[in-house]
Amino acid sequence: MTYEGGCLCGAVRFEADGPLRAVLPCHCTQCRKVSGHFWAATSVPHDRFRLTRDDGLRWYRSSSTARRGFCGRCGATLFWQPEGEARLSISPGAFDGDLGLAGDPPIFTEDRGDYYNVDGPPPPPDPAPPARLSGTCLCGACAFTLRGPTGPVTACHCDQCRRLSGHFAASFDAPEDTLDWLRRDALTEYETPGGAQRGFCRDCGSSLYFRAADGSFSVEAGIIDGKTGGRLAEHIFVAGRGSYYELTDGLPAYAGSGTLGTQA
Ligand SMILES: [Zn+2]
Ligand SMILES: [Zn+2]
Ligand SMILES: [Zn+2]
Repeated sequence: MTYEGGCLCGAVRFEADGPLRAVLPCHCTQCRKVSGHFWAATSVPHDRFRLTRDDGLRWYRSSSTARRGFCGRCGATLFWQPEGEARLSISPGAFDGDLGLAGDPPIFTEDRGDYYNVDGPPPPPDPAPPARLSGTCLCGACAFTLRGPTGPVTACHCDQCRRLSGHFAASFDAPEDTLDWLRRDALTEYETPGGAQRGFCRDCGSSLYFRAADGSFSVEAGIIDGKTGGRLAEHIFVAGRGSYYELTDGLPAYAGSGTLGTQA
């Protein structure tokens, strides 16, 4: 069985011959910054993987032992390449259609964001929420501060958020003029087919924000350094959810856009 996939804008396309590995969720800080929430990946040996279009593909050396691949045009989080290994990790959200894969137990769960738990409901309200938040991309070329704590955090499982984040997205609403940019040398915006703009770092692929077509603005929860002080509150567009994960937090889950009003 050959599976096809690619980024949201189509500037990166690939094929992978099965069987694909079960999907491994990772809550480490790097995966959280690039995906905007937390990442997950399947994996395939190099000899069963082919790039069929790569003009958008960019790589960021995220450590001495690995590189991360993303689309430099739309910012989609796509690949993780461990040095010296003849296999590639691939975002399940980048594939066309559902993969029908199993999910493996998560790793680096101690690095998860404060706004969710790996299993079960989110933690109780933060007794000492931060008054100021900072967001920094993986390479440091994009950084901002913002009044804290965050409001409610919304997880979005729509096709577009899954393509871009690689797994699914989580964000909180904030007026755009309350962000104080410290650096945005590598900030890039991609205009989605629906007329929204997605902000990301073109040097490292970190997910930064969405600006909806009506101007409403939401910040990716995974880009915040340390505590957000907020809590995950709902899941939206759950019809687009991948079959390799379950929602175990008991939060409201909407087929459509939910009640809080955020990205889509
Ligand atoms: Zn793209
Ligand atoms: Zn960066
Ligand atoms: Zn979405």
